[in-house]
Amino acid sequence: MIKLNDYEKQLKDRFLKLKLEAGSHSPSMETLKSSIPEIEVKIDACFLSNPYATDLFIKHLHRDLILTNNLRRFLEFYPSQNQVIAAKIGSAISLDPKSIFVGNGAIEIIQAVIQKMVKRKMVVVLPTFSSFYEFAESNLEIVYYILDKADNFKLDLSKLKDFIRIEKPDSLVIVNPNNPTGGYLHQNELIEFIDAHKNLTNIIVDESFIHFAYEDSEMNNISIQSNVNEYPNLIVIKSMSKDFGIAGIRAGYAIMEPSRVKELIKHGYLWNSNGLSEYFYSKYSDSLFREDYEIVRKNYIRETKNFFDNLKNIPNIRTYPSMANFLLIELIDGTKAEDFVFKLLLDYGVYTRVGNDKKGLNGEFIRIAARSLDENKTVIESIRLLFGLSPL
Ligand SMILES: *Cc1c(COP(=O)(O)O)cnc(C)c1O
Repeated sequence: MIKLNDYEKQLKDRFLKLKLEAGSHSPSMETLKSSIPEIEVKIDACFLSNPYATDLFIKHLHRDLILTNNLRRFLEFYPSQNQVIAAKIGSAISLDPKSIFVGNGAIEIIQAVIQKMVKRKMVVVLPTFSSFYEFAESNLEIVYYILDKADNFKLDLSKLKDFIRIEKPDSLVIVNPNNPTGGYLHQNELIEFIDAHKNLTNIIVDESFIHFAYEDSEMNNISIQSNVNEYPNLIVIKSMSKDFGIAGIRAGYAIMEPSRVKELIKHGYLWNSNGLSEYFYSKYSDSLFREDYEIVRKNYIRETKNFFDNLKNIPNIRTYPSMANFLLIELIDGTKAEDFVFKLLLDYGVYTRVGNDKKGLNGEFIRIAARSLDENKTVIESIRLLFGLSPL
């Protein structure tokens, strides 16, 4: 069990104050660095992205925009309008551009959908990505369906079905794979469930982590985005931030029934992208880039699985099954999650995410993201040393 001395406790209190100021998200590395210089962040295992995809994107950007002097064009002029960029995405995912709504990151879409399309009562599965309930305005009733840690936070769709029958909401949100649990619903069972709920006005499925999930040994890409054609109440939200490692350029989109896209565009969102995200989407639909991306995607998934196995071997923690690129762990040796996170940061420079501010998570939970191979190795060794275990 890990305990802090007085000096560490003092620093921890300053750290927690920063966290409080950041609301439901983690304070940025820059904020941390400038406010508590005693802390040196070496590895950010809070942020949930594929670092190899970032490398790939930067390589292309360097070649296409920097070496050719084309960057100016992307910065000086307006980007294309929402529906022009939708056409680029449409060609990348073989769907009708009229069913694609482009957002300034997925977060803008979550806000738009929750505030403009959800009318009366929404079921949210907890624990989940907090924006889904934080953006709700007061006229919207939210009921929580809470996942049970005794069931490994697995979403049992037959129980959810009963819950919906009783609560009679007009809308439902499911994040698949879920953040922060990593829990995953197979495509078949999810589609069967959607088919049985045609009476709901909105079924919102957030697939922001779906590129890390797989159902076959080839790890082929999966998604239910094309099912929107069949189910007009389905809205599939997709952030590009995590799987392509490009949170800084704010790229995300949603697939929804074309009349709903039209209705949203009527309220604005005309130039809500930017030059760099437009450039990204031109790569997204470029088959050579996609081939390279598939290689780094699968490589990252393999390394992530290995990283999870090493975390599972640490006796002081319990892990929960994850199909995302992070693992939710629970400390079972009496250590407080905040003490663990803080000491791992102070002593080893490894930054992880405390889970106790997440609605629906009760206990000493921490979310740890997979990073590059070397970083994963350092994270494992640091945690082992922190617990006084022998290195691997
Ligand atoms: C990070 C995250 C988002 C937000 O993504 P952006 O595109 O960066 O705005 C949306 N949904 C989930 C589940 C996320 O984890």
